[in-house]
Amino acid sequence: TPNNGYIGRFAPSPSGHLHFGSLVTALGGFLQAKSQGGQWLLRIEDIDPPREVIGASDAIMRCLEAHHLFWDGEVVYQSNRSDLYNEKIQYLTDQGLTYHCRCSRAQLTSLKFGQLCGCINQNLSSENSAIRFRLHNFKQKFYDELLGQVDFPKHDIPTQFAIKRKDGLFAYQLAVVVDDIQQGITEVARGADLLDATLLQFALYQAFDCPAPKFLHLPVVVTESGKKLSKQNHARKVNTDDVCANLINALGFLGLPLTKELSRESVQNILNWAIDQWDLNKIPAKTECIDNRIGQAD
Ligand code: GLU
Repeated sequence: TPNNGYIGRFAPSPSGHLHFGSLVTALGGFLQAKSQGGQWLLRIEDIDPPREVIGASDAIMRCLEAHHLFWDGEVVYQSNRSDLYNEKIQYLTDQGLTYHCRCSRAQLTSLKFGQLCGCINQNLSSENSAIRFRLHNFKQKFYDELLGQVDFPKHDIPTQFAIKRKDGLFAYQLAVVVDDIQQGITEVARGADLLDATLLQFALYQAFDCPAPKFLHLPVVVTESGKKLSKQNHARKVNTDDVCANLINALGFLGLPLTKELSRESVQNILNWAIDQWDLNKIPAKTECIDNRIGQAD
């Protein structure tokens, strides 16, 4: 397949091991890239040490490798990129788009729609302050490659959001956009649990005067009772004893037309078949899908 310049990425946070839902996201992103002859990068989003689980980054990489989900190039660790993030925060500050804020979460949620907190007029120092980005003219809708047109109810749109937290840690929204720009990502394929974040991220692309990539939000795996699998709720980690079965389950979830014969194939043959069969039109265009693997109740 000719390389059409596609660059995608998988960007796990090392807050736990991969579970079936994150395997689906990784596999979907990988197939979307490889079916177009593109690159698929790996970025470890380790900017939140309090939430990091020791050994999780390595475990995630070993798990991807076991499934032959090989990434292109060097792994990027967000924890090494503080200088870049500070430089970009300075740029936004120079544009007059940030302010220091000492409000608690509760104080911010008590504000009326469209209202900014009083900190905006106080010219506070950086000490014990979060750096907040002020939204100006935001996009209320965007086109998702799977879901089509996505509209955000106006009242859900915040007036500001943190780009550096009070505790001095960089916020996910900032780091993810700075990196996606810097790494030349052409399409962000990720779980639909991050759909709402897209709106905030568009505002940052605009502030940086950079075109936004395409977005493809894959359905999130939920249990029959509607619970999302997540590292926080301790969803069972992906077991690498039967990699082929994991891949086949994940491919079924992504709408590929499975055959019985597939279960007798090698990991690499299964992936090659999937690259060939990959078709966005077959993926359920939903933000959540029930995991209907037989006999599994995570
Ligand atoms: N690090 C985020 C997570 O693990 C994903 C970021 C993204 O794909 O934009 O939930």
